[in-house]
Amino acid sequence: MDLKELTVKKLQQGLAEREFSAREVTDEFLKSIETKDGEIGAYLSVFNDEARKDAAAVDRKIASGERPSGLSGVPFALKDNMLVEGAKTTAASKILENYVASYDGTVVTKLKQGGAIILGKTNMDEFAMGSSTENSAFQKTKNPRDLERVPGGSSGGSAAAVAAGEALVALGSDTGGSIRQPAAFCGVVGMKPTYGTVSRSGLIAMASSLDQIGPFTKTVEDAEEVFRGITGRDPLDATSVEYHYESIEPEDARNLTVGLPKEYFISGLSEEVEKGVQSAIEKFKKLGVRFKEISLPHTKYALSCYYIVMPAEVSSNLARFDGIRYSRNVEAGTLHDLYLKNRGEGFGAEVRRRILLGTFVLSAGYYDAYYAKAQKVRRLIADDFDAVFEDVDVVLTPTTPTGPFKFGERSGDPIQMYLSDVFTIPANMAGIPAIAIPVEGDKKLPIGFQLMGKHFEEDKLFALGKLYESN
Ligand code: GLN
Repeated sequence: MDLKELTVKKLQQGLAEREFSAREVTDEFLKSIETKDGEIGAYLSVFNDEARKDAAAVDRKIASGERPSGLSGVPFALKDNMLVEGAKTTAASKILENYVASYDGTVVTKLKQGGAIILGKTNMDEFAMGSSTENSAFQKTKNPRDLERVPGGSSGGSAAAVAAGEALVALGSDTGGSIRQPAAFCGVVGMKPTYGTVSRSGLIAMASSLDQIGPFTKTVEDAEEVFRGITGRDPLDATSVEYHYESIEPEDARNLTVGLPKEYFISGLSEEVEKGVQSAIEKFKKLGVRFKEISLPHTKYALSCYYIVMPAEVSSNLARFDGIRYSRNVEAGTLHDLYLKNRGEGFGAEVRRRILLGTFVLSAGYYDAYYAKAQKVRRLIADDFDAVFEDVDVVLTPTTPTGPFKFGERSGDPIQMYLSDVFTIPANMAGIPAIAIPVEGDKKLPIGFQLMGKHFEEDKLFALGKLYESN
């Protein structure tokens, strides 16, 4: 049996029946990282010793008669913007190159308490800004399905780790698509929960009104299991809510009505994506799911609106990296010099671009014309979703307009890069849950479709997804 092929469900069973130990599973993944990651580049740091120790502790509990539950013994990879006490947390930025976290983020605490094994921290676009992981200050991550192509981003390392069998599951963060887009590019499941269901405490903030942590897994069933383990109200994140997740049976998903928004099935779609998504729709139809054409009329403003709201929040969140806190030991004469040197040398080009944009749209004289207006448009985008969810249970769309592109293909043209998130951004603007599920594309490159649901209706997304994957 290849332990790397395990799902969370099978791992739980196998541990309970003592088919294998948590230590054996962890060793297998660590070995896989050792042999493959030189080529893939998914990890920025690997916790060999701690992971083995934690796995041994899980085995001792099982030996003493405790039944393993939930996430115990599950080997995780974490995006390097999540704080793990005592470990380097860089957000793939030079400005945090030597930063060691002084506390655990809330999701990390939950994983540790649940007995999960943390294998290491994964590569990403600097401060989660990007769609290819090419903006990492440290290294390239290759798409395990085609080494000449990007894994997507910004959580490219987490997606690649799961796709390459270098982690059983991974966590990423999604501000405008950074879980779902790389999941689609690497052929794995990626899920962004409803805003507020997972605590953001200990997640390095990008745009606080949009950021949300979520899982990368091989199956929808596993994504549900991980979601269950990380959700919940947290006093350290005032936007988090009390929410007890209850699943619904996949069979009951046959009675759901799914909306197909005409604004997402447009001419810019690549042929493979169009075919892939169409085949998923056909499969759902055979399973008895009903479809309906719908309209989300403000979709066309979502991307431009996001590129005002997000940079505005980025510019204020990243003000804390002033070279005094999170210092890089730069030699400078005056305080002003110190700021210039730290921020000028510490931040990469994309991060600087967004800080400039954000500072501009928030400045006196431009605030109303840009930021305030974008907030109003954001409301309209959210209202579109509220209106369609009166009529349909779930909305199905492609996850991305094209499959994974090659290195360098878009890195010189920010607009082309930004366009790869047109279909994922609206869910963040509205705060609703969304999941990316792989279908096989024509060219053997992964293609994904996306399901979006009403706030707190993750249950329908998971049920439909499970219905799809079990047939
Ligand atoms: N790719 C998008 C961006 O560059 C989304 C990023 C994210 O979700 N963190 O902003």
